[in-house]
Amino acid sequence: MALLQISEPGLFAAPHQHRLAVGIDLGTTNSLVATVKSGATVVLPDEEGHGLLPSVVHYAADGNTLVGHAAQALQTHDPANTIVSVKRFMGRGLTDIADLASPYRFVEAPGMLQIKTVAGVKSPVEVSADILRSLKVRAEQSLGGELVGAVITVPAYFDDAQRQATKDAARLAGLNVLRLLNEPTAAAIAYGLDNAAEGTYIIYDLGGGTFDVSILELTRGVFEVRATSGDSQLGGDDFDHRLYCWILEKAGLSTLNASDSRLLLTHAREAKEALTEHDSTRVSAVLSDGRIVDLEIPAHCFHTMTTHLVQKTLMPVRKALRDAKLTPADIKGVVLVGGATRMPHVRKAVADFFGKEPLTNLDPDKVVALGAAMQANVLAGNKGDDEWLLLDVIPLSLGLETMGGLVEKIIPRNSTIPTARAQEFTTFKDGQTAMAIHVLQGERELVSDCRSLARFELRGIPPMVAGAARIRVTFQIDADGLLSVSAREQSSGVESSIVVKPSYGLSDEEISRMLTDSMQHAQDDIEARKLAEARVEAESLSSATRAALASDGELLNTDERAQVEAALESLALCAAKNDPAAIVAATEALNAATTEFAGRRMDAAVRKGLSGHKLDEIG
Ligand code: ADP
Ligand code: MG
Repeated sequence: MALLQISEPGLFAAPHQHRLAVGIDLGTTNSLVATVKSGATVVLPDEEGHGLLPSVVHYAADGNTLVGHAAQALQTHDPANTIVSVKRFMGRGLTDIADLASPYRFVEAPGMLQIKTVAGVKSPVEVSADILRSLKVRAEQSLGGELVGAVITVPAYFDDAQRQATKDAARLAGLNVLRLLNEPTAAAIAYGLDNAAEGTYIIYDLGGGTFDVSILELTRGVFEVRATSGDSQLGGDDFDHRLYCWILEKAGLSTLNASDSRLLLTHAREAKEALTEHDSTRVSAVLSDGRIVDLEIPAHCFHTMTTHLVQKTLMPVRKALRDAKLTPADIKGVVLVGGATRMPHVRKAVADFFGKEPLTNLDPDKVVALGAAMQANVLAGNKGDDEWLLLDVIPLSLGLETMGGLVEKIIPRNSTIPTARAQEFTTFKDGQTAMAIHVLQGERELVSDCRSLARFELRGIPPMVAGAARIRVTFQIDADGLLSVSAREQSSGVESSIVVKPSYGLSDEEISRMLTDSMQHAQDDIEARKLAEARVEAESLSSATRAALASDGELLNTDERAQVEAALESLALCAAKNDPAAIVAATEALNAATTEFAGRRMDAAVRKGLSGHKLDEIG
């Protein structure tokens, strides 16, 4: 008998239909749109054949808005109404960008600054929406249909406000956001699929305004993010700015009006780009007051003046390696992303650091958009099989409170999830039958500086002397980021557990603040940890000594007892002060003062144990 097939309502298997989806690299300097067409991933050019759309928007008094090259052409003449690098302002307030030299008339507004133009006050979200709208129109014209959605890339370091602002801009442009994707991950997607190479890779992305570094492990079809780091205030613009300052100095210029300063910045950028290909270049410009700037810039000179910027990029690189517990030798390949990675001294510094030539077989300007397009193609449902799984890392370490208000980290930050780790703990007091388990999140050493996630108790521990019980605490994080913590006393098997969601309510901003704090306070924290540990030791020995005096005090003569008590007292005095070395010394003194006492107690205990037994039983 044949089985009848019944399909679910609304799920009629339609003949395969290609759904139009794009990947958009919404860059600080340049934006691109790409798509997967007949199996090939391509950047969609404008009518003049340009793939890159400068992320520049010009607002005119008549309400006319220009985006891209046309807007860029007006930059020098009308800097105040020509918005460049708007990405730096996304989700930012005036105080966040205070140090930025800029020709704009900013207006403070709740949550995000705004920019006054002749066409009215514009929010960075609106300016970004104008860029996105232009790419949407380009894509729909070129693909001949309406888009079902877009994957839009953001720097890995974008916080919650910046990501939300990006989504809002897309919505304003009439785009359905399938997903925001971190730029380095998009680049890895592009490289991973094209080359199908397995191993650990580092993505070094130096764009116009941001620097991102990510360590990714690529296995066929699977991308695993091992660590991320970066600097959201470092990019090719800073090289322009350094060269601009050098030009001012050489030409003996001090104050410039907005238009002259824009003009020289543009010249600086052109000179920088020219020096990628040539050993020397010339900057010639006429300022608005007729002064002439005419300078020869040798490449080696430019390289010297910007070496510190290149070196600055290596700090996040080292940090990411440290977080992933890797050395440069473990890196199979270095992927260069971003137009600024074209500069030869950047390439050389990266090659020297890793001891190998970086990969550059995909265009560093396009690689992010290509990866985003591939992801969009999957999310739009155009690709059934062969899907990739993106694994996540936990952004902050997870640990437990131990004696002295200290945090013992169980799962370090940047661990890939799912994961499980266990560690054994013991009791602090004789006869202790319960243990308070306090789960914390953060990088700092003290409980008070970390975020409390959950507390629970393990009860029913059989009474034992301090330090004898073995309590195994297991941290487990599933693929959705859900943490469960369980504690089990090994001899009796008593167990207790709790489930928490570590990321709940914690914005990216809070995460980055907690990380910055931990770096800034690293030295303080080491001191605080030393002090807390010294106090725990002191308290442990003091309470044991006091208990021994109470139970076996008769083993000491008056002088000896006075000596022990004096050592106890001086330790108590030291412990109240904040000098860990003094506490350790006083603890050692008490230890020395009680050595003889401990010996006699041992003898007495042995004698007591023997009494009542016949001699031959012992033999
Ligand atoms: P973003 O991701 O910030 O939009 P891009 O990846 O488009 O940036 O990179 C833009 C930066 O790359 C700019 O600072 C630009 O000057 C720089 N750049 C582009 N081409 C070159 C080149 N040939 N030499 C040096 N820098 C370049
Ligand atoms: Mg970029």
